[in-house]
Amino acid sequence: MKGRLPVHVTPAPDEALLSWLCRLGALAGLSPLAFARLAFGIDSRTRPEWWRRPDPDQLAVISLRTGVSPGKLCEMTFEGWLAARDDEHDERLSAWRATHPKRRPNGGYPAAICPHCLASDKVPYLRRAWMFGWLAVCPDHRVVLERKCRACGNILRHPGLDAKKPIRIGCCDRCGVLAASVDGPIALDSVIELQQTMLALKRTGRGGMPGVGIVDWPVFTAIVDLVLRAVWTGTAVKAREHLFARIIADLGREPDERFRIEWQGNYGALVLMTWLLGLWPDRLRQMLEWLNAPGVNDIIAGLSNLAEAQRWKLLEVTGEAIHHRPRSEIWREWLDRLREDGVDVWKLAREERNWQRKERLTALAMVSEGRTIEVAAHRVRASVKLVERWLDIGAIYGLDAVTAKPIRSCELTPIQRDSIGGWLVSNGRSGPQPIGWTAEHARSEIALRFGILVTPSAVRQLLHQYRRSHRPFAPRIVPLRDHKPRE
Ligand SMILES: [Zn+2]
Ligand SMILES: [Zn+2]
Repeated sequence: MKGRLPVHVTPAPDEALLSWLCRLGALAGLSPLAFARLAFGIDSRTRPEWWRRPDPDQLAVISLRTGVSPGKLCEMTFEGWLAARDDEHDERLSAWRATHPKRRPNGGYPAAICPHCLASDKVPYLRRAWMFGWLAVCPDHRVVLERKCRACGNILRHPGLDAKKPIRIGCCDRCGVLAASVDGPIALDSVIELQQTMLALKRTGRGGMPGVGIVDWPVFTAIVDLVLRAVWTGTAVKAREHLFARIIADLGREPDERFRIEWQGNYGALVLMTWLLGLWPDRLRQMLEWLNAPGVNDIIAGLSNLAEAQRWKLLEVTGEAIHHRPRSEIWREWLDRLREDGVDVWKLAREERNWQRKERLTALAMVSEGRTIEVAAHRVRASVKLVERWLDIGAIYGLDAVTAKPIRSCELTPIQRDSIGGWLVSNGRSGPQPIGWTAEHARSEIALRFGILVTPSAVRQLLHQYRRSHRPFAPRIVPLRDHKPRE
């Protein structure tokens, strides 16, 4: 293994070492695994991510055989960047990671790419910035990084150096289409700012962060973990959606923008953090209340890999949010507000002819005048859980949402079906529980948006029916005229 390699590729600006090695290998007709072994004597099987922080002698060999200086090679790695709490793992801030902190996804590494960058490349290559694991926005184009192939909906993956066949960088490994494009959602300025501050923190190890003051990178990543665990584990979909709606309103955005943000991904997490850090720790406390999340102490206790000093720092930073209000206070506040607004729930219950609605109103009236939920539930022969759900729905969506009679799918007019079906397909967040939407939640959203309360089975039917008539990842807002009226 002496002398220069017969193939040469000049590293592109901000290219990741991984990408450059894959390109060199492809030029030689070799897989990344075979190329690293034959050209540099490096075995990537056990440590495919070695390129992030290579040993000095690995760099020396690569430099010798390619003629690229060790300094230049270093710029393509994460040498000099502080890693903490697996922050470089792909989709690091996703809901999935919050609910499965210990699991690694199978089959390659999910990638986040900027379609603009790829569109401007003569030869497509992967930027080192995309490999941070939590980055959400392209620093050059200010667009949200993409994680799915637009052509076929497949999750995009970047190769590992253990790949056994030559790699075509930037292409979907299912349909082969290059993930390049010149459009895509523009990120919020505040998110870009936060991302820059986070990058600086990762680089220097310690620095100022709006809201929380001077922190080091490991503590900040733990703060983000705390927030994501509070949002995604054990909370109700309704409460989360209420939170997202409030965030969008507080950030001064159009209400519909909430449906275009992928809250389950890195970008959604950074939007959430921007909002929280804007009024920290008040908003953290507020968020925990709305979500009826466990106390900060309990969430911190559930975080793994936390040193004692970091635990104390977290407790200090989360401050008064430690004592957030229980759900019962939120119900009480709503019931008191109803009374102040002159709504007599007992009177409504007495006058109601439909027995189902009568029961619900009776239970609410009893809780409103101070009886316990258990007593109210016993009186109307419902479970305690069900009465709590009525209270949740009421506190979030109003009294009408508790008592409205749901409409079945067959009772909707064709226009209603088309508008609701189209909206569901483009905006309903699918995905497994606990991070996706339930039919129960989707119908509350529909009630708010269209003023029609449908049955949960109508939601499932419409979603099923309209999903079949749409290609995956068609434009997210589907114009109504594109649908054919159905009978
Ligand atoms: Zn870009
Ligand atoms: Zn594809």
